[in-house]
Amino acid sequence: MKACSVYRIDDVVPEMNWDNFEKFINLFGKYNVVPLLGVVPDNQDQKLKVAKKKEFFWEIIKKMRDEGRVEIAQHGYQHKYRTKEIGGFYKFCGFKPQSEFYGIPYKKQFSMIQKGKEILRNYGLDTDVWMAPGHSFDKNTLSALKALKFRAVTDGIGVYPTMKDGLLHVPQQVWGPVKSVIGVKTICLHLNSADDKMFKSIEEHLKTDSNIVPFSEVLDQYSTSQYNVMNFLYKGVFILNLLRK
Ligand SMILES: [Zn+2]
Repeated sequence: MKACSVYRIDDVVPEMNWDNFEKFINLFGKYNVVPLLGVVPDNQDQKLKVAKKKEFFWEIIKKMRDEGRVEIAQHGYQHKYRTKEIGGFYKFCGFKPQSEFYGIPYKKQFSMIQKGKEILRNYGLDTDVWMAPGHSFDKNTLSALKALKFRAVTDGIGVYPTMKDGLLHVPQQVWGPVKSVIGVKTICLHLNSADDKMFKSIEEHLKTDSNIVPFSEVLDQYSTSQYNVMNFLYKGVFILNLLRK
């Protein structure tokens, strides 16, 4: 598969900054780019509530999905941080140690993820893609996801998606528009705080990069992808970049 980029939008909840959300969704639509929305099934995180609750939120998101304008990932369960932990490589990169899942016993994690999945299903937003709040999860999270028939996780520092224990891990390394030259770049956006500068730089990217694909396309293309040494090397590059800042 050619090098490509994927856009994901985190923290999609009824009380998000709807004006911004609409503005960016229309922008993606203008260039026929389909972003992956991280929808929180039962948001209890006050920090994500920055505006008046959007009426018909669930119906509108479902309509967007049905029209093929967006794809859906389950972004945790309640987005409520319960432990001060972060797993994987992110812990070496200065990410805040906080998690809704890391360190919680398997049974409890299973039940939380299952409840979230059911809520989304009841709103017609069934999905098998997982997006962990705070990039933080552990082995038990992955086992529970597997048992609940999830197929993919959007997370991790690397170049290529990798199939691990029955789940495709699609790396997520950048927080602003970047043209990918190798592998898959996932661009993570938090629209509650996105400004005009971000809007313009994304528009420039959408205009000039013909290799921005929906998450589902990556999932289909890389479903048998195995560990690649490039992922290991990229971790080194990522850390060096952080140190230079
Ligand atoms: Zn989040």
